[in-house]
Amino acid sequence: MIDSSPTALPSSEPRAPVVIVGAGPAGLTLANVLRDASVGCVVLEAESRDFIEQRPRAGFLEEWAVRALERHGLAEGLLERAPTHSTCEFRVDGERHRFPYTEISGHHHFVYPQPLLVTDLVREYADVKGGDIRFEVRDVELHDIGTERPSVSYTDPDSGVRRRIDCDVVAGCDGARGVSRAALPPGRTHLSRLDYGVGWLALLAEAPPSSDCVVFGVHPRGFAAHMARGPQVTRYYLQCPPGDDPQNWPDERVWSELHTRLSAAGAAPLTEGRLIEKRVLDMHNYVVQPMAYGRLFLAGDAAHLVAPIAAKGMNLALHDALLLADALVAYHRTGETGGLRGYSAACLRRVWEYQEFSEWFAELLHGPSSGDPFRAGNASARLRRLFHSPAAAAAFAESYIGSTAVGNPR
Ligand SMILES: Cc1cc2nc3c(=O)[nH]c(=O)nc-3n(C[C@H](O)[C@H](O)[C@H](O)COP(=O)(O)OP(=O)(O)OC[C@H]3O[C@@H](n4cnc5c(N)ncnc54)[C@H](O)[C@@H]3O)c2cc1C
Repeated sequence: MIDSSPTALPSSEPRAPVVIVGAGPAGLTLANVLRDASVGCVVLEAESRDFIEQRPRAGFLEEWAVRALERHGLAEGLLERAPTHSTCEFRVDGERHRFPYTEISGHHHFVYPQPLLVTDLVREYADVKGGDIRFEVRDVELHDIGTERPSVSYTDPDSGVRRRIDCDVVAGCDGARGVSRAALPPGRTHLSRLDYGVGWLALLAEAPPSSDCVVFGVHPRGFAAHMARGPQVTRYYLQCPPGDDPQNWPDERVWSELHTRLSAAGAAPLTEGRLIEKRVLDMHNYVVQPMAYGRLFLAGDAAHLVAPIAAKGMNLALHDALLLADALVAYHRTGETGGLRGYSAACLRRVWEYQEFSEWFAELLHGPSSGDPFRAGNASARLRRLFHSPAAAAAFAESYIGSTAVGNPR
């Protein structure tokens, strides 16, 4: 919401060149790079530090993203601890099809759970670099983003006092449910959306992975997936009706469906464990265009959502943050505005590549259980082409690993 009278608010805070709303992968990466370049910033986060360091979500980082973090000195923990993955496996009609995407593309994934990455980034920004981050702030509001003097106000959690920070730029990194996107004035940006019409039951099991790679179960009862998160934790997904209630999925039903949908000749049986997360995601994607208005720049899930079909969201969030950081550093050092003006277009090229791949992949995974023989036939054709055509395999591998450099030269 844009407040037309920000001067009515107390201005008890020193001015900051950049205010970053949200301390997820996007906000924290941006904050670290700005801090290194001596561009002042304040990070405002609605949750506590403990909460964001434990929130389970993504786990797969594409190699280009890791190399980019490494160049900024932000990948030490990751490179020390994250195993790499080079293959995925499709299980279709009781058969296993190994897909060695690293052999084809030359690039691999790093398996590093999002809470570990967030923990590393917070520690580096707040504890090592002494950066300003304020947790558990309430009622964040953006003001005057269409002017050269925007500001952000919030309620201090300890005192209950309303505070305002004047700035040059606001970075909206507050995810899918934040306030930044809602601050865009109607008619100046457009949100396009795709609903898949299916749900995924997202599960975390306290159990070691049952395969050395990601497993996609393409089954007439619905899609299922297995993804390592760590030596003792594995993420599973089960396709379910949209809006389904996790209560409809007692543990016995979950494991029975997982065994059925992921079974294949010669595959090791799944190792069961306590289910520590069980939530239904209504699978949808959206994109805000442009990703900026006035002095507000959106990054990550605030600007675009990709359903976790090919593990793209965190990677896109990092890509935006790195581009925005470069543009802001140039602006604050020399007044150069080209990077900021081109920011949205540069991000959107990769965003749309990933959206297109996600939609293509979703149809391959969901078509066979759609009840529509036409969609099921198309999905079978896609799978056969993937398994038997080197050209199709190369195209899939390139999109799956997202193997282009930051800035997307295509
Ligand atoms: C179950 C699941 C599995 C996933 N798996 C993968 C995967 O394997 N690979 C992958 O790449 N992606 C995956 N994703 C997507 C990935 O988690 C997101 O794309 C990523 O978290 C986006 O980062 P972000 O920084 O943009 O937003 P977020 O991580 O959502 O961070 C936004 C931050 O803003 C804070 N915030 C919100 N509102 C406010 C406010 N009003 N004021 C201040 N702060 C606020 C939030 O508390 C949060 O800390 C998955 C997502 C889910 C849900």
